[in-house]
Amino acid sequence: MPENPFKSAQEQLLIVARKINLEKDVLNILIEPKRIIEVEISIRMDNGIVKVFKGFRSQHNDSRGPFKGGIRYHPDVSADEVKALSMWMTWKCAVANIPFGGGKGGVICDPKKMSRGELERLSRGYVRAISKFIGMDIDVPAPDVNTNAQIMDWMLDEYELIIGKKQPAAITGKSIGLGGSEGREDATGLGGVFILVEAVSDLGIKNKTVAVQGMGNVGFTIAKLLYKRGFKIVALSDSKGGIYSPDGINPEQAMICKLEKGSVSECCQASPNCKKITNEELLELNVDILIPSALENQITKENADKIKAKLILEMANGPTTPEADEILERKKISVIPDILANAGGVTVSYFEWVQNRQGYYWTEEDVNEKLGLIIKKAYYDVIRTAKKENCSLRTAAYILSVSRVANALKLRGFA
Ligand code: NAD
Repeated sequence: MPENPFKSAQEQLLIVARKINLEKDVLNILIEPKRIIEVEISIRMDNGIVKVFKGFRSQHNDSRGPFKGGIRYHPDVSADEVKALSMWMTWKCAVANIPFGGGKGGVICDPKKMSRGELERLSRGYVRAISKFIGMDIDVPAPDVNTNAQIMDWMLDEYELIIGKKQPAAITGKSIGLGGSEGREDATGLGGVFILVEAVSDLGIKNKTVAVQGMGNVGFTIAKLLYKRGFKIVALSDSKGGIYSPDGINPEQAMICKLEKGSVSECCQASPNCKKITNEELLELNVDILIPSALENQITKENADKIKAKLILEMANGPTTPEADEILERKKISVIPDILANAGGVTVSYFEWVQNRQGYYWTEEDVNEKLGLIIKKAYYDVIRTAKKENCSLRTAAYILSVSRVANALKLRGFA
Protein backbone atom coordinates (compact mmCIF):
# COMPACT_ATOMS: atom_id res chain seq x y z
CA MET A 1 0.00 0.00 0.00
CA PRO A 2 1.72 3.28 -1.06
CA GLU A 3 2.20 5.79 1.74
CA ASN A 4 0.14 8.97 1.63
CA PRO A 5 2.64 11.74 0.73
CA PHE A 6 0.52 14.42 2.42
CA LYS A 7 0.59 12.48 5.70
CA SER A 8 4.40 12.25 5.33
CA ALA A 9 4.64 15.99 4.66
CA GLN A 10 2.46 16.78 7.69
CA GLU A 11 4.50 14.43 9.86
CA GLN A 12 7.74 16.10 8.79
CA LEU A 13 6.25 19.49 9.75
CA LEU A 14 5.04 18.20 13.13
CA ILE A 15 8.51 16.83 13.97
CA VAL A 16 10.08 20.24 13.35
CA ALA A 17 7.22 22.13 15.01
CA ARG A 18 7.93 20.20 18.23
CA LYS A 19 11.66 20.80 17.91
CA ILE A 20 11.36 24.58 17.47
CA ASN A 21 8.28 25.08 19.68
CA LEU A 22 6.34 26.48 16.76
CA GLU A 23 3.38 28.58 17.90
CA LYS A 24 0.13 26.65 17.69
CA ASP A 25 -1.53 29.34 15.54
CA VAL A 26 1.27 29.17 13.01
CA LEU A 27 1.18 25.36 12.96
CA ASN A 28 -2.58 25.41 12.40
CA ILE A 29 -2.06 27.63 9.37
CA LEU A 30 0.78 25.56 7.91
CA ILE A 31 -0.54 22.05 8.50
CA GLU A 32 -3.09 22.39 5.63
CA PRO A 33 -2.92 24.27 2.31
CA LYS A 34 -4.52 27.72 2.22
CA ARG A 35 -6.60 26.68 -0.78
CA ILE A 36 -7.10 23.59 -2.90
CA ILE A 37 -8.82 23.93 -6.25
CA GLU A 38 -10.35 20.85 -7.88
CA VAL A 39 -11.50 21.20 -11.48
CA GLU A 40 -12.98 19.23 -14.34
CA ILE A 41 -11.43 19.75 -17.75
CA SER A 42 -13.52 18.56 -20.70
CA ILE A 43 -11.72 18.28 -24.02
CA ARG A 44 -12.51 16.71 -27.37
CA MET A 45 -10.18 13.81 -28.09
CA ASP A 46 -8.89 13.11 -31.61
CA ASN A 47 -11.55 10.41 -32.06
CA GLY A 48 -14.33 12.97 -31.58
CA ILE A 49 -15.35 11.87 -28.07
CA VAL A 50 -15.37 14.41 -25.20
CA LYS A 51 -13.31 13.20 -22.26
CA VAL A 52 -13.39 14.70 -18.77
CA PHE A 53 -10.13 14.99 -16.82
CA LYS A 54 -9.74 15.87 -13.16
CA GLY A 55 -7.18 18.55 -12.23
CA PHE A 56 -5.96 20.16 -9.02
CA ARG A 57 -4.06 23.22 -7.85
CA SER A 58 -2.98 23.32 -4.23
CA GLN A 59 -1.83 26.63 -2.77
CA HIS A 60 -0.12 25.89 0.52
CA ASN A 61 1.23 29.20 1.79
CA ASP A 62 1.99 32.64 0.32
CA SER A 63 3.28 34.55 3.32
CA ARG A 64 6.74 35.05 1.71
CA GLY A 65 5.49 35.74 -1.84
CA PRO A 66 3.21 34.38 -4.59
CA PHE A 67 2.54 30.62 -4.57
CA LYS A 68 5.03 28.85 -6.81
CA GLY A 69 5.17 25.29 -8.08
CA GLY A 70 4.99 22.90 -10.99
CA ILE A 71 2.14 21.11 -12.75
CA ARG A 72 2.28 17.32 -13.03
CA TYR A 73 0.56 15.14 -15.63
CA HIS A 74 0.36 11.55 -14.37
CA PRO A 75 -2.25 8.80 -13.86
CA ASP A 76 -1.46 8.71 -10.10
CA VAL A 77 -1.99 12.44 -9.44
CA SER A 78 -4.29 12.96 -6.45
CA ALA A 79 -5.43 15.76 -4.16
CA ASP A 80 -3.15 14.46 -1.41
CA GLU A 81 -0.15 14.30 -3.74
CA VAL A 82 -0.49 17.93 -4.88
CA LYS A 83 -1.14 19.03 -1.29
CA ALA A 84 2.12 17.40 -0.19
CA LEU A 85 4.06 18.78 -3.12
CA SER A 86 2.70 22.29 -2.48
CA MET A 87 3.79 22.14 1.17
CA TRP A 88 7.27 20.99 0.14
CA MET A 89 7.41 23.95 -2.29
CA THR A 90 6.77 26.36 0.59
CA TRP A 91 9.77 24.93 2.44
CA LYS A 92 11.93 24.75 -0.69
CA CYS A 93 11.45 28.42 -1.58
CA ALA A 94 12.16 29.34 2.03
CA VAL A 95 15.37 27.24 2.20
CA ALA A 96 16.62 28.86 -0.99
CA ASN A 97 15.43 32.17 0.48
CA ILE A 98 13.61 33.25 -2.66
CA PRO A 99 10.43 35.37 -2.41
CA PHE A 100 7.78 32.74 -3.11
CA GLY A 101 5.38 30.53 -1.24
CA GLY A 102 4.38 26.99 -2.18
CA GLY A 103 1.92 25.71 -4.74
CA LYS A 104 1.53 22.65 -6.95
CA GLY A 105 -0.84 21.42 -9.62
CA GLY A 106 -1.64 18.25 -11.41
CA VAL A 107 -3.97 16.56 -13.85
CA ILE A 108 -4.92 12.87 -13.71
CA CYS A 109 -4.04 11.69 -17.21
CA ASP A 110 -1.63 9.47 -19.09
CA PRO A 111 0.24 11.89 -21.37
CA LYS A 112 2.09 8.99 -23.02
CA LYS A 113 -1.23 7.90 -24.54
CA MET A 114 -2.27 11.39 -25.74
CA SER A 115 -1.54 13.14 -29.04
CA ARG A 116 0.13 16.55 -29.21
CA GLY A 117 -3.23 18.17 -30.06
CA GLU A 118 -4.95 16.49 -27.10
CA LEU A 119 -2.16 17.62 -24.76
CA GLU A 120 -2.48 21.19 -26.02
CA ARG A 121 -6.27 21.20 -25.49
CA LEU A 122 -5.83 19.70 -22.00
CA SER A 123 -3.18 22.30 -21.05
CA ARG A 124 -5.30 25.20 -22.28
CA GLY A 125 -8.36 23.73 -20.55
CA TYR A 126 -6.46 23.41 -17.25
CA VAL A 127 -5.42 27.07 -17.39
CA ARG A 128 -8.96 28.19 -18.20
CA ALA A 129 -10.17 26.25 -15.17
CA ILE A 130 -7.68 27.80 -12.72
CA SER A 131 -7.12 31.19 -14.41
CA LYS A 132 -8.81 33.21 -11.64
CA PHE A 133 -6.37 31.84 -9.10
CA ILE A 134 -3.03 32.35 -10.90
CA GLY A 135 -0.96 35.33 -12.11
CA MET A 136 2.50 36.77 -11.61
CA ASP A 137 1.65 38.22 -8.18
CA ILE A 138 -0.69 35.41 -7.12
CA ASP A 139 0.49 31.94 -8.14
CA VAL A 140 3.14 31.14 -10.74
CA PRO A 141 3.02 27.60 -12.25
CA ALA A 142 5.97 25.77 -13.86
CA PRO A 143 6.75 22.30 -15.29
CA ASP A 144 6.98 19.09 -13.26
CA VAL A 145 6.73 15.39 -14.13
CA ASN A 146 5.55 14.93 -17.76
CA THR A 147 5.15 18.65 -18.46
CA ASN A 148 7.70 20.76 -20.32
CA ALA A 149 8.45 24.13 -21.92
CA GLN A 150 5.99 23.57 -24.80
CA ILE A 151 3.18 22.88 -22.33
CA MET A 152 4.09 26.04 -20.37
CA ASP A 153 4.05 28.01 -23.68
CA TRP A 154 0.49 26.85 -24.44
CA MET A 155 -0.56 27.63 -20.86
CA LEU A 156 0.92 31.14 -20.99
CA ASP A 157 -0.72 31.81 -24.37
CA GLU A 158 -4.11 30.73 -23.00
CA TYR A 159 -3.65 32.81 -19.85
CA GLU A 160 -2.71 35.92 -21.84
CA LEU A 161 -5.77 35.41 -24.10
CA ILE A 162 -7.96 35.31 -20.99
CA ILE A 163 -6.51 38.42 -19.32
CA GLY A 164 -6.18 40.32 -22.60
CA LYS A 165 -2.56 41.40 -22.16
CA LYS A 166 0.97 40.02 -22.03
CA GLN A 167 2.18 38.70 -18.69
CA PRO A 168 5.15 36.38 -19.27
CA ALA A 169 5.99 36.28 -15.53
CA ALA A 170 2.71 34.42 -14.89
CA ILE A 171 4.28 31.06 -15.81
CA THR A 172 7.92 29.92 -15.71
CA GLY A 173 9.79 27.11 -17.43
CA LYS A 174 8.73 28.49 -20.83
CA SER A 175 10.70 28.20 -24.07
CA ILE A 176 13.39 30.86 -24.51
CA GLY A 177 11.38 32.26 -27.47
CA LEU A 178 8.48 33.12 -25.15
CA GLY A 179 10.55 34.61 -22.33
CA GLY A 180 12.03 31.48 -20.77
CA SER A 181 15.36 31.83 -19.01
CA GLU A 182 18.69 30.64 -20.30
CA GLY A 183 19.80 27.76 -18.08
CA ARG A 184 16.29 26.77 -16.86
CA GLU A 185 16.33 23.33 -18.47
CA ASP A 186 19.47 22.20 -16.66
CA ALA A 187 18.85 24.26 -13.51
CA THR A 188 17.44 21.57 -11.21
CA GLY A 189 20.24 19.17 -12.12
CA LEU A 190 22.91 21.85 -11.94
CA GLY A 191 21.71 22.98 -8.51
CA GLY A 192 22.07 19.36 -7.35
CA VAL A 193 25.57 19.21 -8.79
CA PHE A 194 26.64 22.39 -6.94
CA ILE A 195 25.45 20.82 -3.68
CA LEU A 196 26.87 17.37 -4.35
CA VAL A 197 30.33 18.71 -5.16
CA GLU A 198 30.40 20.52 -1.78
CA ALA A 199 28.94 17.53 0.11
CA VAL A 200 31.31 14.97 -1.41
CA SER A 201 34.28 17.09 -0.40
CA ASP A 202 32.82 17.75 3.12
CA LEU A 203 32.19 14.02 3.66
CA GLY A 204 35.51 12.93 2.10
CA ILE A 205 33.86 10.59 -0.43
CA LYS A 206 36.59 9.55 -2.86
CA ASN A 207 35.34 7.02 -5.42
CA LYS A 208 32.18 8.82 -6.42
CA THR A 209 30.18 5.96 -7.96
CA VAL A 210 26.62 7.06 -8.62
CA ALA A 211 23.23 5.39 -9.23
CA VAL A 212 20.47 7.61 -10.64
CA GLN A 213 16.81 6.54 -10.52
CA GLY A 214 14.70 8.29 -13.18
CA MET A 215 15.91 9.57 -16.51
CA GLY A 216 13.71 12.57 -17.16
CA ASN A 217 14.62 16.24 -17.05
CA VAL A 218 16.14 16.00 -13.58
CA GLY A 219 17.70 12.51 -13.57
CA PHE A 220 19.20 12.74 -17.03
CA THR A 221 20.58 16.24 -16.49
CA ILE A 222 22.26 15.46 -13.19
CA ALA A 223 23.70 12.19 -14.57
CA LYS A 224 25.04 14.03 -17.64
CA LEU A 225 26.56 16.89 -15.61
CA LEU A 226 28.13 14.59 -13.00
CA TYR A 227 29.60 12.35 -15.72
CA LYS A 228 31.26 15.45 -17.24
CA ARG A 229 32.74 16.25 -13.81
CA GLY A 230 34.35 12.83 -13.42
CA PHE A 231 31.74 11.02 -11.30
CA LYS A 232 31.24 7.39 -12.38
CA ILE A 233 27.58 6.76 -13.27
CA VAL A 234 27.11 3.01 -12.72
CA ALA A 235 23.31 2.75 -12.87
CA LEU A 236 20.44 4.52 -14.58
CA SER A 237 16.72 3.75 -14.80
CA ASP A 238 13.32 4.89 -16.01
CA SER A 239 9.79 3.71 -15.24
CA LYS A 240 10.37 0.45 -17.17
CA GLY A 241 13.57 -0.56 -15.31
CA GLY A 242 17.27 0.16 -15.37
CA ILE A 243 20.83 -0.91 -16.16
CA TYR A 244 23.94 -1.38 -14.03
CA SER A 245 27.52 -1.39 -15.25
CA PRO A 246 30.47 -1.28 -12.81
CA ASP A 247 32.57 0.07 -15.72
CA GLY A 248 30.43 3.19 -15.89
CA ILE A 249 27.75 4.47 -18.29
CA ASN A 250 27.81 7.57 -20.48
CA PRO A 251 24.34 9.10 -19.81
CA GLU A 252 24.19 10.91 -23.15
CA GLN A 253 24.77 7.67 -25.05
CA ALA A 254 22.25 5.93 -22.82
CA MET A 255 19.69 8.67 -23.63
CA ILE A 256 20.21 8.28 -27.39
CA CYS A 257 19.58 4.54 -26.97
CA LYS A 258 16.56 5.13 -24.67
CA LEU A 259 14.95 7.42 -27.24
CA GLU A 260 15.45 4.76 -29.90
CA LYS A 261 14.35 1.73 -27.85
CA GLY A 262 11.78 3.28 -25.54
CA SER A 263 13.54 2.49 -22.25
CA VAL A 264 17.06 2.71 -20.84
CA SER A 265 16.59 -0.86 -19.57
CA GLU A 266 17.08 -1.98 -23.20
CA CYS A 267 20.46 -0.24 -23.47
CA CYS A 268 23.06 -2.68 -22.16
CA GLN A 269 24.71 -3.64 -25.46
CA ALA A 270 27.64 -1.19 -25.30
CA SER A 271 29.32 -2.69 -22.21
CA PRO A 272 30.01 -6.41 -21.61
CA ASN A 273 29.67 -6.05 -17.83
CA CYS A 274 26.34 -4.31 -18.05
CA LYS A 275 23.16 -5.97 -16.78
CA LYS A 276 19.46 -5.15 -16.57
CA ILE A 277 18.19 -4.28 -13.09
CA THR A 278 14.87 -3.34 -11.55
CA ASN A 279 14.24 0.02 -9.91
CA GLU A 280 14.19 -1.73 -6.52
CA GLU A 281 17.63 -3.25 -7.19
CA LEU A 282 19.00 0.12 -8.28
CA LEU A 283 18.15 1.63 -4.90
CA GLU A 284 20.02 -1.13 -3.08
CA LEU A 285 23.26 -1.05 -5.12
CA ASN A 286 26.61 -0.76 -3.41
CA VAL A 287 27.41 2.78 -4.62
CA ASP A 288 28.78 5.91 -2.96
CA ILE A 289 25.95 8.17 -4.05
CA LEU A 290 22.29 7.35 -4.70
CA ILE A 291 20.19 9.93 -6.54
CA PRO A 292 16.43 9.25 -6.60
CA SER A 293 15.13 11.47 -9.42
CA ALA A 294 11.72 9.95 -10.26
CA LEU A 295 8.75 9.97 -7.90
CA GLU A 296 7.93 10.02 -4.19
CA ASN A 297 7.90 7.04 -1.78
CA GLN A 298 10.85 5.14 -3.25
CA ILE A 299 12.83 4.64 -0.02
CA THR A 300 10.44 3.23 2.57
CA LYS A 301 10.62 1.23 5.79
CA GLU A 302 10.61 -1.90 3.58
CA ASN A 303 13.90 -1.18 1.81
CA ALA A 304 15.72 1.50 3.85
CA ASP A 305 17.70 -1.16 5.73
CA LYS A 306 19.05 -2.49 2.43
CA ILE A 307 20.38 0.85 1.16
CA LYS A 308 24.18 0.75 0.91
CA ALA A 309 24.97 4.23 -0.46
CA LYS A 310 26.96 6.61 1.77
CA LEU A 311 25.08 9.65 0.56
CA ILE A 312 21.58 10.14 -0.86
CA LEU A 313 20.87 13.26 -2.89
CA GLU A 314 17.09 13.58 -3.15
CA MET A 315 16.50 15.13 -6.56
CA ALA A 316 12.89 13.84 -6.68
CA ASN A 317 10.36 15.36 -4.34
CA GLY A 318 9.52 13.19 -1.34
CA PRO A 319 11.43 10.01 -2.32
CA THR A 320 12.02 9.03 1.34
CA THR A 321 9.25 8.36 3.86
CA PRO A 322 9.66 9.58 7.48
CA GLU A 323 10.04 5.95 8.76
CA ALA A 324 12.77 5.30 6.20
CA ASP A 325 14.44 8.53 7.25
CA GLU A 326 14.80 7.24 10.81
CA ILE A 327 16.38 4.02 9.55
CA LEU A 328 18.82 5.91 7.31
CA GLU A 329 19.78 8.19 10.20
CA ARG A 330 20.49 5.14 12.39
CA LYS A 331 22.64 3.73 9.58
CA LYS A 332 24.51 7.06 9.40
CA ILE A 333 23.68 7.53 5.73
CA SER A 334 23.73 11.24 4.88
CA VAL A 335 20.58 12.44 3.15
CA ILE A 336 20.54 15.78 1.36
CA PRO A 337 16.81 16.53 1.49
CA ASP A 338 14.70 17.30 -1.57
CA ILE A 339 13.77 20.80 -0.45
CA LEU A 340 17.46 21.69 -0.65
CA ALA A 341 18.81 19.25 -3.28
CA ASN A 342 16.37 20.13 -6.05
CA ALA A 343 15.87 23.83 -5.26
CA GLY A 344 17.91 24.81 -8.35
CA GLY A 345 14.85 24.53 -10.58
CA VAL A 346 12.69 26.93 -8.64
CA THR A 347 15.65 29.26 -8.18
CA VAL A 348 16.07 29.68 -11.93
CA SER A 349 12.27 29.91 -12.26
CA TYR A 350 12.63 32.85 -9.87
CA PHE A 351 15.30 34.32 -12.19
CA GLU A 352 12.93 33.82 -15.14
CA TRP A 353 10.17 35.67 -13.25
CA VAL A 354 12.57 38.52 -12.41
CA GLN A 355 13.76 38.78 -16.04
CA ASN A 356 10.17 38.73 -17.34
CA ARG A 357 9.16 41.51 -14.95
CA GLN A 358 12.18 43.60 -15.92
CA GLY A 359 12.00 42.80 -19.63
CA TYR A 360 15.77 42.43 -19.47
CA TYR A 361 17.42 39.08 -20.13
CA TRP A 362 20.59 37.51 -18.72
CA THR A 363 23.18 35.19 -20.30
CA GLU A 364 23.41 31.53 -19.33
CA GLU A 365 26.74 32.27 -17.63
CA ASP A 366 25.05 34.94 -15.51
CA VAL A 367 22.18 32.62 -14.60
CA ASN A 368 24.46 29.74 -13.61
CA GLU A 369 26.71 31.98 -11.54
CA LYS A 370 23.75 33.47 -9.65
CA LEU A 371 22.30 29.96 -9.18
CA GLY A 372 25.60 28.75 -7.68
CA LEU A 373 25.62 31.64 -5.19
CA ILE A 374 22.06 31.00 -3.96
CA ILE A 375 22.33 27.21 -3.82
CA LYS A 376 25.70 27.08 -2.06
CA LYS A 377 24.50 29.64 0.49
CA ALA A 378 21.40 27.51 1.12
CA TYR A 379 23.56 24.38 1.53
CA TYR A 380 25.88 26.03 4.06
CA ASP A 381 22.93 27.61 5.92
CA VAL A 382 21.56 24.08 6.33
CA ILE A 383 24.94 22.60 7.32
CA ARG A 384 25.42 25.32 9.97
CA THR A 385 21.91 24.75 11.34
CA ALA A 386 22.50 20.96 11.47
CA LYS A 387 25.72 21.47 13.46
CA LYS A 388 24.13 23.98 15.81
CA GLU A 389 21.02 21.87 16.46
CA ASN A 390 22.86 18.52 16.26
CA CYS A 391 20.31 17.13 13.81
CA SER A 392 19.99 15.64 10.33
CA LEU A 393 20.22 17.80 7.23
CA ARG A 394 16.49 17.29 6.63
CA THR A 395 15.57 18.48 10.09
CA ALA A 396 17.98 21.41 9.69
CA ALA A 397 16.46 22.38 6.34
CA TYR A 398 13.00 22.23 7.90
CA ILE A 399 14.06 24.25 10.94
CA LEU A 400 15.44 26.92 8.64
CA SER A 401 12.50 27.03 6.27
CA VAL A 402 9.65 26.66 8.77
CA SER A 403 11.23 29.41 10.91
CA ARG A 404 11.45 31.74 7.89
CA VAL A 405 7.82 31.09 6.93
CA ALA A 406 6.68 31.43 10.56
CA ASN A 407 8.54 34.73 10.80
CA ALA A 408 6.75 36.05 7.69
CA LEU A 409 3.41 34.98 9.18
CA LYS A 410 4.24 36.73 12.45
CA LEU A 411 5.28 39.91 10.63
CA ARG A 412 1.87 39.81 8.93
CA GLY A 413 0.27 39.63 12.36
CA PHE A 414 -0.81 35.99 12.41
CA ALA A 415 0.91 35.04 15.67
P1 NAD B 1 10.19 13.77 -15.94
O1 NAD B 1 8.80 13.48 -16.31
O2 NAD B 1 11.01 14.56 -16.90
O3 NAD B 1 10.97 12.41 -15.62
C1 NAD B 1 10.54 11.45 -14.71
C2 NAD B 1 11.42 10.22 -14.88
O4 NAD B 1 11.11 9.27 -13.87
C3 NAD B 1 11.22 9.50 -16.22
O5 NAD B 1 12.47 9.02 -16.69
C4 NAD B 1 10.33 8.31 -15.84
O6 NAD B 1 10.50 7.20 -16.72
C5 NAD B 1 10.88 8.00 -14.48
N1 NAD B 1 9.96 7.25 -13.64
C6 NAD B 1 8.62 7.40 -13.52
N2 NAD B 1 8.14 6.47 -12.64
C7 NAD B 1 9.19 5.77 -12.22
C8 NAD B 1 9.36 4.69 -11.32
N3 NAD B 1 8.32 4.16 -10.68
N4 NAD B 1 10.61 4.23 -11.12
C9 NAD B 1 11.67 4.75 -11.77
N5 NAD B 1 11.58 5.77 -12.62
C10 NAD B 1 10.36 6.26 -12.85
O7 NAD B 1 10.13 14.51 -14.51
P2 NAD B 1 11.22 15.45 -13.85
O8 NAD B 1 10.87 16.84 -14.16
O9 NAD B 1 12.57 14.92 -14.17
O10 NAD B 1 10.90 15.24 -12.30
C11 NAD B 1 11.43 14.14 -11.56
C12 NAD B 1 11.32 14.45 -10.08
O11 NAD B 1 12.02 15.66 -9.80
C13 NAD B 1 9.90 14.66 -9.57
O12 NAD B 1 9.81 14.20 -8.24
C14 NAD B 1 9.75 16.17 -9.60
O13 NAD B 1 8.75 16.63 -8.71
C15 NAD B 1 11.13 16.57 -9.16
N6 NAD B 1 11.53 17.94 -9.51
C16 NAD B 1 11.52 18.36 -10.79
C17 NAD B 1 11.95 19.66 -11.08
C18 NAD B 1 12.05 20.17 -12.49
O14 NAD B 1 12.58 21.27 -12.68
N7 NAD B 1 11.62 19.44 -13.49
C19 NAD B 1 12.36 20.51 -10.05
C20 NAD B 1 12.37 20.03 -8.75
C21 NAD B 1 11.96 18.73 -8.49
